[in-house]
Amino acid sequence: MAITLQDPLPDHFADISPEETDRLIAKCREELGDRVVILGHHYQRDEIIKWADHRGDSLKLSQLAGANTKAEYIVFCGVHFMAETADILTTKEQSVILPNLSAGCSMADMASIRQVEHAWSQLQSVVDCNVVPVTYVNSTAAIKAFVGRNNGACCTSSNAARVISWAFEQGEKLMFFPDQHLGRNTSVALGVDPDREMVTWDPALPLGGNSTEAIRQAKVILWKGHCSVHARFTTEQIAEARATHPGVKVIVHPECSLDVVKAADASGSTEFIIQAISSSEPGTTWGVGTEINLVNRLARELPDRKIFCLDPVVCPCSTMYRIHPYYLLWSLQNILMGAPTNIIMVQEPTASDARRALDRMLSL
Ligand code: SF4
Repeated sequence: MAITLQDPLPDHFADISPEETDRLIAKCREELGDRVVILGHHYQRDEIIKWADHRGDSLKLSQLAGANTKAEYIVFCGVHFMAETADILTTKEQSVILPNLSAGCSMADMASIRQVEHAWSQLQSVVDCNVVPVTYVNSTAAIKAFVGRNNGACCTSSNAARVISWAFEQGEKLMFFPDQHLGRNTSVALGVDPDREMVTWDPALPLGGNSTEAIRQAKVILWKGHCSVHARFTTEQIAEARATHPGVKVIVHPECSLDVVKAADASGSTEFIIQAISSSEPGTTWGVGTEINLVNRLARELPDRKIFCLDPVVCPCSTMYRIHPYYLLWSLQNILMGAPTNIIMVQEPTASDARRALDRMLSL
């Protein structure tokens, strides 16, 4: 996705109080009824989550959007690549709206289609075997389409092991976009040696900064991308949590580095983290390595467990945070006025190619 800037909201929004905003959103919701479904990603602030018909991770929400053929408008309170995926999975008659166009994803933006196509052609010039591209769903529709065209598949943090195992059945090597950490953590868990059988591809350097020999030896080629939220977690924070809270269980997201994942007691997707903590015994203590809005919400909803974020300098996902209640209100009001704004539309053939990569994942 090219960085998109959101036009400023009309001036009168500056005079609306939070209470009035809530009242107006509730009024719009009532008037719109089944015409609209609001989806809220787990990392959204509480003032948004309270309006969500469904909350979940990116894929769960996109699948819910795809299953709902009734709503004319899907208002996706998340980031741009999620709205794109929802548009790909919904019918032509439905429109997906991202309330604030500036809500992108720094990780997805680390792999542009131009960079990926350039890297792919460099790679093909030095290897003589089948390379299977795999992309995390946290990527632009253009990258998903590239992967679909080249017989690869998408994956999520829940099914990455299944998709990577499948990729090894299809070819000798795989190239993983755009999150090096999810690719590395999952491949290591599947027995791939991170020192001898993996290389990281830096798109700013010729051959990604690797020698021809290292690329030929590698089974896994990891795009040099990362999540700016999950890259903040460190092994020092985990050591500190263990020293301060004896008996603490440490659980982290696989977008964290390999060292952090190894030092934790468990790692898994957002849904996995929620499930593990929710099903734990009351009285247990959890140090969590994921986005702060989710961690705080879990702490509030499960007051009989001690739940805290491993990072003392808590940092929300700044792009998710751009979905302010004003933008939700503005989007709903525009629909009611018959002039919907911020419709995210993935054009053909990108949509069909990206759907191939998504369908391949869903069929595994
Ligand atoms: S948490 Fe990380 S991967 Fe998720 S939207 Fe924010 S920057 Fe992107």
